[in-house]
Amino acid sequence: MEDHPQPQNEEAVNFLIALGKEAGLESEVIEVHPGRPVAILSWKGSDPSLPSVLLSNHYDVVPVQKDKWKCDPWAAEKDGEGNIFGRGTQDMKSVGIQYIYALKRLKTEGYQPLRTIYIVCVPDEEIGGKLGMSLFVQSPTFKKMNVGVSLDEGLASPDDSFKVYYGERIEATAEGAAGHGSRFIEGTATQKLMGLVDQMMKFREEQFEKYQRDQHSCGTQLGDVISVTLTSLNAGVTRTPEGKDMEKGSISVNVIPTVAKAGFDLRIPPTENLERFMNMIRGWAQERGCTIDLLSGDFKNGRTDIGEDAKWWKVLKNSMQSINLKVDPQIFPAGTDSRFFRNMNIPAFGFSPINHTPVLLHDHNEYLNEKVFLKGIDVYTRLIRDLSSEQC
Ligand SMILES: [Zn+2]
Repeated sequence: MEDHPQPQNEEAVNFLIALGKEAGLESEVIEVHPGRPVAILSWKGSDPSLPSVLLSNHYDVVPVQKDKWKCDPWAAEKDGEGNIFGRGTQDMKSVGIQYIYALKRLKTEGYQPLRTIYIVCVPDEEIGGKLGMSLFVQSPTFKKMNVGVSLDEGLASPDDSFKVYYGERIEATAEGAAGHGSRFIEGTATQKLMGLVDQMMKFREEQFEKYQRDQHSCGTQLGDVISVTLTSLNAGVTRTPEGKDMEKGSISVNVIPTVAKAGFDLRIPPTENLERFMNMIRGWAQERGCTIDLLSGDFKNGRTDIGEDAKWWKVLKNSMQSINLKVDPQIFPAGTDSRFFRNMNIPAFGFSPINHTPVLLHDHNEYLNEKVFLKGIDVYTRLIRDLSSEQC
């Protein structure tokens, strides 16, 4: 993901704080990095010694390609069917506001939570959370919050079910490289590298086939398979055989490069043994005279327990079922801030109360229907009540 164009973080935080105050919530802003404020809205529980409930949301969004939108992506225009168009309507300004309105309703109803409830609004999720959630979870403020369970974003669901994500695939990038020491034509760097690229693409094909084949029979989702995307290929010499620099941007076609490199974007589900996977691809590289290294990637990939005895999963599932919602637990196909909690062994569920809606996050003409948005406040009201009143 590219860098944000200059995001108006302060304005976003001020807006959220004002909404929170209106709802009767306590508020605090901490700067985890200069220009990267985190807004915290809270409601103290009657037993603040119990682990708290954290409702997480990111207030940043991805950029837009304005000419691909049928209306101004920043104006929140509503059409005749009640569809509200705007960047962030699904991902995930809607959710942040729904949290606040659900708490406002609970306050109006005279409810008193047993556990303290926090709404945490962070920047930078869309660029990996390095200056957002990743720093926040290391702060003394976060430690003091003693979080027992967290909710964060999920995805829209086109049918009537609500997807709940209990894990996600990690994003990793790997670079394969090959070199050769002689001027003999046999076994050039590019040749060796192409062997590795072919093997990686064959693996990609197998994973894709598995996804397609098992989608209907076993309910396999995109989040359950490993995806591999070839993102870069690099080889070629920019000097002539006489050692002169070529014209800018030109590559010599009659000089054999001594090094060739390929970049891969990998998405690996938490059900996969990462070490085993890396050993496998390192083996492929070795057989072909190449090396492959992990450039980035977190080898920690926690999963939230959704077994029969998993307390918070039971509370969440029962709560949703009590209002006749169909719950469908899944692995998130990409990355979210929930991974920071899971890697600290804090149960984290990715859930956006958006059903009967096409998945349009990061897409042109992202929208959310007003009825779905309002229903989402009802859903959160119930869910937050049940989570924050959980006794043990
Ligand atoms: Zn998001």
